[in-house]
Amino acid sequence: MSVSAIKVQDLTVFYQNSEVLSGVSLEIALGDYVGIVGPNGSGKTTLIKSMVGLIEPAQGNIEILGTALAAFTKWSSVGYLPQKNNVMDPRFPANVYEVIASGILSAKRFPKILNKQDQMRIENTLEILNIVDLRDHLIGRLSGGQQQRVMLARALVNQPSILLLDEPTVALDPHTRESFYTLLQKLNKEQNITILLVSHDPVTVGNFATKLLYLDKKVIFYGKFGEFCSAKNMKDYFGLEAQHLMCHQH
Ligand code: ADP
Repeated sequence: MSVSAIKVQDLTVFYQNSEVLSGVSLEIALGDYVGIVGPNGSGKTTLIKSMVGLIEPAQGNIEILGTALAAFTKWSSVGYLPQKNNVMDPRFPANVYEVIASGILSAKRFPKILNKQDQMRIENTLEILNIVDLRDHLIGRLSGGQQQRVMLARALVNQPSILLLDEPTVALDPHTRESFYTLLQKLNKEQNITILLVSHDPVTVGNFATKLLYLDKKVIFYGKFGEFCSAKNMKDYFGLEAQHLMCHQH
């Protein structure tokens, strides 16, 4: 049997006394591009954070690439782009190159130094994301869209096989947003990178992702877009129009 990218079994999470995820189970196959949608506060961020071990669940198991989370050490295979909710201090003392390099260094054990191969990977990543000319700029002085590109570069520099992205396009203008999604689709199709993308925008998710997870504390729907689009009960959640908008590309 082939290994899943991520397997979640019966995951339950509480903050203080309130249950925010309740018995969530799902399996993400290698190469999937899963769009995660759901109302505000439905647990999307909590699910992603649980997957990278930032939250201790009350119950349940998570496996990454076939290994239980507690025993998983290959974090260089997992790129995580957290939700961006604050403007960075313009004086934050790191330039673009250093921010991307920190992605490599944080996944390394001692000695934490960049070798020639690491340097080449940084150069490649700068090129892929089209930010070569920003290399020496202070991160805090860049626009929101440029900062997001740099943070994506940081998540990508270890050539992960799984990318977890939490509302990555909130700060982007529509044009940059489009090219960001096109880039993700390319990474998924050409390099077979597994992508989990939390989005507040189900229509965009419908255009790019191959699977949909609709979360509302529990899994309301998880499956291929085709199945979602033919599922009559889903229009009760989304309304007929939203379901149609999400589905017309599929
Ligand atoms: P989503 O990403 O779908 O908007 P979240 O996972 O961020 O949902 O949040 C789920 C619920 O948990 C929300 O009701 C939110 O207010 C609450 N919550 C999130 N983080 C915390 C926290 N650190 N402490 C207490 N409650 C939290």
